[in-house]
Amino acid sequence: MNCPVCGGDCIEDAPTLLARLPHTFAPCPDCMGLTYDKRAPPPDLSPAEPCPSCARRFIDEVFAQIYRVMAAEGDLAGTEPLGAAGTPLVHPGFAMRSAPYLPPSSLVLLSRSVGERTAARLVAEVPEVRGVVRAGAGTPGVRDTDAEPNVHALLAGCDVRADVFSTRQGPIVIYKQQSVLHVEFPRDRDEKILSLERRIREQRPRTFVDACCGAGTLGLAAARAGVPRVIANDAWYAAAYWTACNLRVNREFLGIGEVTMHRSCDDLRRRPVARDPVPVATASGAQEIEVYQGDLRLLPAVLPPEIDLAALDLFEKADAGKIEEITRAWRARVGGAIFIP
Ligand SMILES: [Zn+2]
Ligand SMILES: [Zn+2]
Repeated sequence: MNCPVCGGDCIEDAPTLLARLPHTFAPCPDCMGLTYDKRAPPPDLSPAEPCPSCARRFIDEVFAQIYRVMAAEGDLAGTEPLGAAGTPLVHPGFAMRSAPYLPPSSLVLLSRSVGERTAARLVAEVPEVRGVVRAGAGTPGVRDTDAEPNVHALLAGCDVRADVFSTRQGPIVIYKQQSVLHVEFPRDRDEKILSLERRIREQRPRTFVDACCGAGTLGLAAARAGVPRVIANDAWYAAAYWTACNLRVNREFLGIGEVTMHRSCDDLRRRPVARDPVPVATASGAQEIEVYQGDLRLLPAVLPPEIDLAALDLFEKADAGKIEEITRAWRARVGGAIFIP
């Protein structure tokens, strides 16, 4: 599957990615790295080169080089702490015991201060950097189908990366384009996944709907837990696209055959926020999984009868009145149990 952002081979299937996971960020015997204080500017040493034996480099050294390029280009004054350079999003992200030694092309930099010239230099000069994203004001995605979506800006390279989440049945791999989907930090215990699994154990649903699916984590977790029919939906094109992609990536862990994609990423991007649900991908076999792009308030029109459990992971958690209104409407039109992660 070619990467829809850069056309390269950024996307691996889950078994391939997981097989290399244990060694991905581990230093070899020749690796050396200094730990820097993130609350102070980096010391005035020239940053270490990547390890001559394994090509990895300690994350703090990589960040020190990023900081220096940003300071040279005027994005930073040089007095800010090292942490001000931005947020490191490693690829693949997973719950780590210690700070990583980064192999080439394993870091997406998310930064409020980075400029376009710097971004091009970082991708060209810092081998570990695969993409540079300038953070916008809000969390990427769509708050409401009437509102303008928020996005960050991909300035250089490719910002497609994966996170690995643990489930009771084993890991799932969730790819996303980072400038258009929100950041998730995988931990040893993911509370949303754990509480969904508890609900599934108690209730044994035959059908599960993930109505605001994001990159597909909960829908995939439900499928991994063996729910026979899973329907994932999101109004935001990037969420629907990456959920479909992740279905394909994790295919071997699920009871499905080939995944049929009904829309390409370019297709979906032309209508970034959907109202009437359109099918994006379907897969069948021992399990049946569908992905839609649409407004969850219009989703009942395409749902099969008897939905046992639905997750309504609404973007705007602060608006209690709106959550109440949406859950009331869902109960009236769809029924079944509702799970608010
Ligand atoms: Zn790519
Ligand atoms: Zn090494």
